[in-house]
Amino acid sequence: MSDAQYDLVVIGSGPGGYVGAIRAAQLGLKTAVIEKDKTLGGTCLNVGCIPSKALLESSEHYQAAIHDLKTHGVKVGDVALDLPTMMGRKDKIVGSLTGGVAFLFKKNKIDHYQGFGKISKPNEVEVITGSGSKILQTKAIMIATGSIPTELPFLPYDEKRVVSSTGALALGFVPKELLVVGGGVIGLELGSVWSRLGSKVTVIEYSDRILPMMDKDLIDVLEKTLSKEGVKFMTSTKVTGSKLEKDKVVLDFESLKDGSKSTISGDVVLVSTGRKPFTAGLGCEEVGIERDKQGRIIVDHHYQSNIPGIFAIGDVIAGPMLAHKAEEEGVAVAELLAGKAGHVNYNTVPSVIYTHPEVASVGISEDQAKAQGIEIAVGKFPFMANGRAKAMGQTDGFVKIIADKKTDRILGGHIVGPRASELLGEIIVAMEFGGSSEDLARSFHSHPTLSEVVREAALAVDKRQRQM
Ligand code: FAD
Repeated sequence: MSDAQYDLVVIGSGPGGYVGAIRAAQLGLKTAVIEKDKTLGGTCLNVGCIPSKALLESSEHYQAAIHDLKTHGVKVGDVALDLPTMMGRKDKIVGSLTGGVAFLFKKNKIDHYQGFGKISKPNEVEVITGSGSKILQTKAIMIATGSIPTELPFLPYDEKRVVSSTGALALGFVPKELLVVGGGVIGLELGSVWSRLGSKVTVIEYSDRILPMMDKDLIDVLEKTLSKEGVKFMTSTKVTGSKLEKDKVVLDFESLKDGSKSTISGDVVLVSTGRKPFTAGLGCEEVGIERDKQGRIIVDHHYQSNIPGIFAIGDVIAGPMLAHKAEEEGVAVAELLAGKAGHVNYNTVPSVIYTHPEVASVGISEDQAKAQGIEIAVGKFPFMANGRAKAMGQTDGFVKIIADKKTDRILGGHIVGPRASELLGEIIVAMEFGGSSEDLARSFHSHPTLSEVVREAALAVDKRQRQM
């Protein structure tokens, strides 16, 4: 028996699902969203992007109060941490944003079903709740079920002493020693939070450097700054086992450089070795939806799976696990379903690490250009030479612009430094418009602003810096 008929049923209300659903509703499609959790917004709003940025912001203020304000001539008395208030502020921000999604659903006349979505047939989704189930008939299905943290077999999460990112966002105390297994974006952001709040943080990384996918020049600056602040890095190190002792978690590890073995202990271990697509109970096997070896749903250029009418987007398909990538894919599916030309430009998907200094990248790196045999011209400019950065007292880092040597078209932008996440925006827009470094260099940039460093880097592509 069918209870309701839709043009589109979206399973999952993360940034991919909710943004895609809103676009579909705006384009006139009768749309429903099924979400298994009590609140809307998925990983990003509940246990990802937003709570991590709230804690990064708060912990930065705490660190500034202890170390930096005095250099501005501001004397404060004893600085004390009120962790419950900090966590409460984070929860309030999350609550207001997840509530905002519910409001947007109402405003756009999207039906929200709280329950577990299971695809029973290509045009039918069952919503399973504690008190029964309901069948939704639909012309199209968008799978937006996202991802979950990967667990190490010998280090299962108890979310108290061995925590995933979700546990690390809700610790009720500051661990004396925090071990972070995995030096990727999540490990470094959450490691930074607890380091600023007083934990002795050690990052253990399998590769020979942290963030191996990012431009090495940028990561060198970040690693140096974090090391100065007391974060320890153990690279080329493989964690091989663990033991829970009374108050400690003891990790066995092996050096990949010389094969030596040893142990290290901490009060809390954050395992941030990656995330995997979540499709459990979704009905993929029953309906025959194909997945790759990593469990990601295989889709074509229009995000359609091997079953016509079933689409998938976001963390559950291939590509970087990023909220803005999921959003754009959700919008593209909605537009394609409405007969428009939905499209995502993967050459301009930005990556940001919200540490201090921030790291932000778009497009190709110098190494990638070399590997692809592309002749490039590179312009680089340091924040040290920028008036605004000096006034802020935040002079670590630089902007690097990579342009095609012949055409001057911008192929990549890489920033480490203050507000890198925001500064990257103009490079992304320039790339989207097919702009050149000369276009950026000829555009006005208010003085004094950090954005002048972007302009100077663009000028430096043609060796025309003005300020140094
Ligand atoms: P998700 O956000 O994972 O949403 C999937 C939703 O589907 C969930 O709500 C889930 O409950 C629901 N669901 C799953 N299966 C079913 C089912 N069968 N029935 C009903 N509901 C179901 N990205 C950034 O771009 N910037 C950042 O700063 C950033 N910071 C992050 C920090 C942390 C700590 C973490 C963990 C992630 C961060 N990310 C960040 C990544 C970002 O959160 C994800 O890329 C993004 O949320 C993916 O969106 P999505 O819509 O694909 O899936």
